[in-house]
Amino acid sequence: MYDVIVVGARISGASTAMLLSKAGHRVLLLDRAVFPGGKAAATNLVHPPGILRLKKWGLLDELTATGCPPIREYGLQSGPARLMAELPSVEGVNEAYSPERSRLDQILLDAAVKAGAELRTGVSLRSLLTDEHGTVTGVRGETEDRTPVIEHARLVVGADGSNSTVARLVDAEKYDAHPVLNKSHWSYWEGLPHDGRVRTYRHAHKHAFTWPTHDGLTIVGVALPVADFKARSDEDRDRTVISAFEEVDPARAELLRQTKRADRWMTGSVPNFLRRSDGPGWALVGDAGYTRDPITAAGITDALRSAELLSEAVDAGLTGRRPLPEALASYGRQRDALVSGHYRYTRDHATIANHSREEIAFIRAMTRSPTHGRDMVGMFATMIHPSQFYSAANIHALLDHLEPGAGPGWKLRMVRWLVRGAPRHVPPAPRVADRLIAKNLGPMGTYLA
Ligand SMILES: Cc1cc2nc3c(=O)[nH]c(=O)nc-3n(C[C@H](O)[C@H](O)[C@H](O)COP(=O)(O)OP(=O)(O)OC[C@H]3O[C@@H](n4cnc5c(N)ncnc54)[C@H](O)[C@@H]3O)c2cc1C
Repeated sequence: MYDVIVVGARISGASTAMLLSKAGHRVLLLDRAVFPGGKAAATNLVHPPGILRLKKWGLLDELTATGCPPIREYGLQSGPARLMAELPSVEGVNEAYSPERSRLDQILLDAAVKAGAELRTGVSLRSLLTDEHGTVTGVRGETEDRTPVIEHARLVVGADGSNSTVARLVDAEKYDAHPVLNKSHWSYWEGLPHDGRVRTYRHAHKHAFTWPTHDGLTIVGVALPVADFKARSDEDRDRTVISAFEEVDPARAELLRQTKRADRWMTGSVPNFLRRSDGPGWALVGDAGYTRDPITAAGITDALRSAELLSEAVDAGLTGRRPLPEALASYGRQRDALVSGHYRYTRDHATIANHSREEIAFIRAMTRSPTHGRDMVGMFATMIHPSQFYSAANIHALLDHLEPGAGPGWKLRMVRWLVRGAPRHVPPAPRVADRLIAKNLGPMGTYLA
């Protein structure tokens, strides 16, 4: 009998198993894969809150020892608005990294085993054991040679990715679900200079991106709305991606032409949803519980944070400090509070709609305001909540950085635009008379009044 069985041994599963083992619980960690696995189909970027978790867990030095270069600035370019800003700091961490996934997965897996988790690979979960009340009490799986595996535990955690078998077996309902919004082509490039920057570009319904990773390589790709995405030959994809850069950053496009692609092209897309995170005898963590478009590259960071939240809740439940069902329910609420703002922001971004004139004017204003520029990239990196960024005081201060010479007419236009609920991740204000809105807006309202 285990305290916890964790199904899925990558980012969220290995972290959860490590934290619970460190807290003294008996943990079985299962995965159908055999490690080390191959290159994961992901673009690897981990924002500072994820790096902070690795630091707290004593694993950051192991990561930096692999030679992965730090990233300190993010760029969000849209048409003529070219924002490049330093990342804000969270508890002293202001760096991101984009580690090649099999290396990060292995660091976390080794840490879980070192902390005492029992690892069994090559085991696929097939069904769950339940008692007469329907409470999950264990797992039934099988090895690659079809040997049955039956194990019991007080809690089964599904860390088995967005197509989670655990979620399917417990019928965990999805909410706030949205279909796949875009698809991307990306690959690894050799010979590009590394300057510690993430670059993203929005133009003509294309989202081009590039940032440094391990072994002197650079991730280069472009996301396109689903309707515009075509499966192409490698040569076609070279042309598609380089021409997307040509439109927004000709110098970088030239660099791409002068250097060379070092891997095959990969394709990726995921739907967007939250899933109920817990029930009697089970819980979900990482992508199993919350999957979002990769355009804001937040899945690993979210998986590390949710592993931390879940482990604290499970520890409280298993040690009797709190009833386990209550602790798990509170984990679900905390997770939703943590991610819901960024989830809306990500979905908005993932449509790859061209920015409106107002949005471009805002991004340009951010390039003139060091704090707003930093906070904007912080919002992209899951560090600043959209409601904080779009607070009346913050926007009021940003209006002072509009194009020099932009008169009160533009300010009024921007305030109206924000109040009417654009961009879409800002909750819309009710449609009431401008005078009423002005009254509610505090200092910003003076423009409307
Ligand atoms: C195209 C693309 C690009 C991305 N880019 C980024 C990025 O730049 N930055 C970022 O932070 N995130 C990115 N992500 C998201 C990121 O990859 C995920 O959020 C992250 O992998 C989630 O980790 P996880 O541990 O929850 O699940 P996973 O990494 O999916 O691991 C699930 C594990 O469960 C195991 N498993 C599944 N079913 C079973 C079963 N029945 N029995 C036993 N084992 C099972 C699998 O073998 C696997 O090892 C990207 C995703 C995509 C699709």
